[in-house]
Amino acid sequence: MTEIQQLYQEVILDHNKNPRNFGELPSCTNHAEGKNPLCGDHIDISLLIENDVITDLKFSGSGCAISKASASIMTSEVKNKSILEAKELFEQFHDLVTCAKDKEIDLDKFGKLAVFGGVREFPARVKCASLAWHTLISAIDNKNEIAITE
Ligand code: ZN
Repeated sequence: MTEIQQLYQEVILDHNKNPRNFGELPSCTNHAEGKNPLCGDHIDISLLIENDVITDLKFSGSGCAISKASASIMTSEVKNKSILEAKELFEQFHDLVTCAKDKEIDLDKFGKLAVFGGVREFPARVKCASLAWHTLISAIDNKNEIAITE
């Protein structure tokens, strides 16, 4: 394992152990639930959207370290971002975890999301890592359906 991969793994373990924005949001405007049946990950996301900006959000649920760390990092990254910016970040993240294994990627431009750069090598883990993002998008669109990563 290279030094950078080791650092990324530490970041993931830290977010898993001390998830940011974990809990319930007392007053929310948007909500969605997501499930990744392959791994058993389950997440619940609540958003407070004011004037097209996600001013607050929280997640709860249970799952593997990757799904939890991804939710924790996602919530920190999209807080105080506009809906448009959050959707752009989702696109970036999606490209990062689903692009071909041998494609050159410039991890610097992904900021904190770069820790998931290694996930594309493990197709089963892609669903764990993207669950929080798919759930975020359903919450933004306020679809009353459960986001399932399939
Ligand atoms: Zn998982």
